[in-house]
This record gives sequence, structure tokens and C-alpha cells, in this order.
Amino acid sequence: MFSLFERIIQPFPNARPVTPPRQLFSFIAHYSKGTYGSLLAMSLLTATNAILEVQLFAFLGQLVDWLASADRGSFLAEKGQTLLLMSLIVLVIMPLVTVLHSLIVHQTLLGNFPMKIRWLAHRQLLRQSLSFYQNDFAGRLATKVMQTSLAVRETVMKLLNVMVYVATYFFTMMVTLAQTDWRLAVPLLCWLLAYIGVQYYFVPRMKQVSSDQAESRAQMTGRIVDSYTNISTVKLFAHSQREADYAQEGMTNFLTTVHRQMRLATGFDVCVGLLNYGLIFCVAGFSIGLWLNEVVTVGAIAVVVSMALRLQGMSHWVMWEVGALFENLGTVADGSTTLATPVEVQDSAGASPLQVAQGRIEFDHIGFHYGKGSGVIDDLSLSIAAGEKVGLVGRSGAGKSTLVNLLLRFYDLESGAIRIDGQDLSTVTQDSLRANIAMVTQDTSLLHRSVRDNILYGKPDATEAEMLAAATKAEAHDFILGLSDPYGNQGYDAMVGERGVKLSGGQRQRVAIARVLLKNAPILILDEATSALDSEVEAAIQHSLYELMSDKTVIAIAHRLSTIAAMDRLIVMDQGKIIEQGSHQQLLAMNGVYAKLWAHQTGGFLGLED
Ligand code: ADP
Repeated sequence: MFSLFERIIQPFPNARPVTPPRQLFSFIAHYSKGTYGSLLAMSLLTATNAILEVQLFAFLGQLVDWLASADRGSFLAEKGQTLLLMSLIVLVIMPLVTVLHSLIVHQTLLGNFPMKIRWLAHRQLLRQSLSFYQNDFAGRLATKVMQTSLAVRETVMKLLNVMVYVATYFFTMMVTLAQTDWRLAVPLLCWLLAYIGVQYYFVPRMKQVSSDQAESRAQMTGRIVDSYTNISTVKLFAHSQREADYAQEGMTNFLTTVHRQMRLATGFDVCVGLLNYGLIFCVAGFSIGLWLNEVVTVGAIAVVVSMALRLQGMSHWVMWEVGALFENLGTVADGSTTLATPVEVQDSAGASPLQVAQGRIEFDHIGFHYGKGSGVIDDLSLSIAAGEKVGLVGRSGAGKSTLVNLLLRFYDLESGAIRIDGQDLSTVTQDSLRANIAMVTQDTSLLHRSVRDNILYGKPDATEAEMLAAATKAEAHDFILGLSDPYGNQGYDAMVGERGVKLSGGQRQRVAIARVLLKNAPILILDEATSALDSEVEAAIQHSLYELMSDKTVIAIAHRLSTIAAMDRLIVMDQGKIIEQGSHQQLLAMNGVYAKLWAHQTGGFLGLED
């Protein structure tokens, strides 16, 4: 029974994620697709429930009238049928509605609905270009995904559950009362207007306080987290007291908003309380007056007074629900600005997979300025033959990493084209492009998973033997065997810590090299690939690296020129332009920028290196 309802909404649809619309209600509708049926069923059941509840009150009135005047002897014979019908409603129909409603709310919607949004939003964010992530905090993005999915659910469900319930309830109540005598509905209508007035005053103020509070809560938490993250600095400078004061300031700001909020809460409670007691008084007095004039019966008084009492109970609940609705709408609006950001680098329509037969790379008059109009890379052309090993040299900021990022299509070119084996990169799929390029970078961050998973990331279907061989070649096998984590995992099963912090820089780099050895892509990029290794380990894996490079097109960036001097060709870059190129010997002979850099790095003993 439960699983039947749990399967109605598919939490992990396969559909390709698309950028959601930015406009608030279109955004909500976008992420509610596929749940409309369940939401409609929920609203209908809610409305039915409200109507039936009011009918119970109406029946109560009839009962009072009957009991007041009926003859005990003939009562059951006369009213038996109506009593049976009401029993059926109370014992069968209402429980059935409650059971169905509960199943749809708890089994179908509460879990699967936000999970579906999280899944779609997460996959949408994974499509985002690198620049999107460079402009934001990872933690903030994750919070957005989590919060927005819950807020969409809350907004939709509150609107369709609470608001439908209240509206139907009130409407049915008015109709029922008006059928007895329209004057009985008057005090309730006045109460409604006053109640809306109170909401109108308090809800926007509550909303404002809530958002101020959310902001100061984030700040308070931020200050505390900052102290914990930088605990070594705090301790080194013996600033614990200062840190405590800094945190206290954040806490005080937060507390101020709590006090403001609580003042509003008290004000609201008092207003609604006064309204409610006024309502009960008016309803009772008014209906007694009508009774005195023989306009209404005792039963009608029983109905209207019990309805007033029910309204009293509902009014506080509705107020908080309205408040929560607005708060959730705010969260959705905030999340939609992040989640609806258009994806910058997209596969073109009809993009085909890249086919690499040789590995020839051509940069054809490319221009790229990080959207700044000029600078970085201007009209650069470079041809790299299949299997050629090229070293990129230049001061930091010369544009070497940018060139590599453009080859990987982490950014779209602003002019020109890059081709691999004649295929323009803007016409091939990004996945196929990156599958054909392996890269080892200076600062390799590993995924917080086991060492094995990190190496297999290069080739998920590799056998254990292939994985071990790659690790051994990368000189990583020995140190991996010695690893363990707090969960009792050993060796290849040990977790590496967030971003790989539990490994040294050199160990991380060796795992990264093992991963790339396993991936075995035809184009290889080495960005300071051996910078974190000590000379002994470097010498040891240099051999594996050379082997890896043997039948591949290679682009290597290095600050230590000695590591790339043996390349087929060295390209010297400055301010996004190629200023010199040739082999190590040729460049030394030219006695230009490269020769100067070389002399600088080798202490001027040019003769020794020649
Ligand atoms: P290199 O790798 O040679 O040190 P980069 O390619 O990293 O040089 O940087 C080239 C220029 O591009 C620098 O002036 C740098 O400030 C700029 N740059 C690098 N990354 C970005 C970015 N994400 N947004 C804007 N400008 C950038």
C-alpha cells in the first residue's frame, strides 16, 4: 500500500536537465512538473474534508433542534435514516478521505517531490561552466539546492493544502449559515475582514524580520565557522578573547532580530486573541438576540457558536502558515536567481562526439579576454602536430593556463577557432572532448572518496590489476598501502579527506598521475605536473611520465624549465602572445627571453647545461 503511493512521483527522472525559468511562478511550475496529478488529488481531498467538517457542524445544529422537540418514542423511526447517513460520513467517508490525503501527502509528496527538485537542480548545476563556480562558494551553492527544493515544496503544498482548506472551509461555512439565516453570517464576515487586516499589517513585518534574522544568523554562524577554520591562526596569535568578542557581536545582532520578532509575535497573538473573543461574544449575543425575536432556532445558535470556536482555533494556525508561505516564497525567489543562471558553455545543437585519430591541435587566430573586452589572449595561432610534445613557458599571468582551459573548452572563445584533427571544438560535445584529454595539474584536489575510487575516476571500468599497475607506475602503490582512515579502511579503501587534505601534495599528485595513466587519453596536458614532488620521487615517476607521453600529443606547462627542456618544441608566451618558439637549443641560441629565464633559473651557468 505504502510503496504504491511512494512510486507515484519518480524522484530521479532521466530527462536532460534544462535551465529553469527565472520568473518566480514559472520557476515553481517548472520544478512541480510531474507532480500536478498528486497535487490536484491532495487539494480535492483537502476541500472535501473541509466541506464534510462543516456539514458535521450543520448536522450538530439539526440534532440540537431535533432533540429539543422530538418525541423519544418515534425519534429513531423518524430520524434513523439521517443518523445512519451521518454515521456513514463520520465512520467511513471521512476516515477514507483522511487516509488517502495522508498517503498522498506523506508517501507521495513530502519525500519524493523535493528529492526530484534536488536531483534536477544538482544535475543542472553540474552542467554549469567553470566560471559559474569560480564566482560563488561551493557551500552556498549546495545550500541553495537544498533550501530551494524544500521551499518549492512548502510553497506549493501550503498553497494547495492550507489555503484550499481554509478557503473552502470558510466559504462552506458562510453558505451553510446563510441557508439558515443570512444574518448569522454577518459577524463571521466582519471577523474575516478584520482578520485579513491583521494579516495585512503583521505578515510583511514578520517577513522582513525573518529575512533580517536569516541574514544575521548566517553572519553569526559565519563568524564562528571562520574562527574554527582558522583555529591555528587564532591560537598562534593568542586571540581567543578577541574571537569570542567578535562572535558575541554576531550573536547580539542575531538576538536583536529575535527580540523584534517576538514583539511582533506577541502583538499578533494579542490582536488575533481580541478578535476571536470579540467574535465569540458577538456571535453569541447576536444569535441570542435573533432567537429572542424567534428568527433562529437553538440549533442554529449551537452551529454558529461552535463554528466561531473552531475559527478561533484555526486563526493562529493560519497566520503562521501564511507567514511561512511568504518566507518560503522568499527562499524560492532567492534560489531561483542562482539555479536559473543560464549555462554559458553549451554543446551546440547537433554536436557530434570528437574523434581523435592522430591528436593534431590547431589554435586558429583565437581571442579570449574573460569577457573584459581586451587583454589576456589576442589573435593567437599555434599548430601542434600529432604526437608532438610542446612546453609552454612564460611569466605567471602570461596566459598559459587560459590557453589550456580554452582547449578543454572550459570557456567559449571570443574569436577564432580551436581544432583537434580538423574538428572545430565548438561543434563537438564537451564530454567527448574532455574524454580525449588527460590533465595533471599543479594543485590536484581529490574527491572525498577512497583512493581506489579516485584512481578509477580516470577509467571507471578498469580492472583491479590495471588500477594497481597504474598506481605502481605512478610510484603511489607503496604509500597507498600504508594509508588508513578513522573508519578502519586500509590501503586503497582509505578515504582521502576533503579535497585530499590527508595526503601530502606529492602524494596527491601521484594519485592524480595514476588516474591519468589509467585514463590513457590521446592528448595529455601537464600543468606543473611534478611541482609538488621531491626530486627523488620526481626522478622515479619521470620514467612513467615519459612512457605515458610516448604516443601522445603533449602540452606541458612548467616554471622549472629543466622539467620541460627536453620537449620537442618550447613556446614562450608573454601577455597572451607567442614571443619565441623552438627547441631548447634553438631558443638558447636566440639569446632572447627564454635564454634569460634559463640563465636566471640555472644561476647563469649556461655553459654547464649546454
Ligand atoms: P598563466 O597560466 O600564464 O600564469 P593565466 O592564464 O592564469 O596565466 O592568466 C592570464 C591572465 O588572465 C591574467 O592576467 C589573469 O589575471 C587573467 N585571468 C585568469 N583567470 C581569470 C578569470 N577566471 N577571470 C578573469 N581573469 C582571469
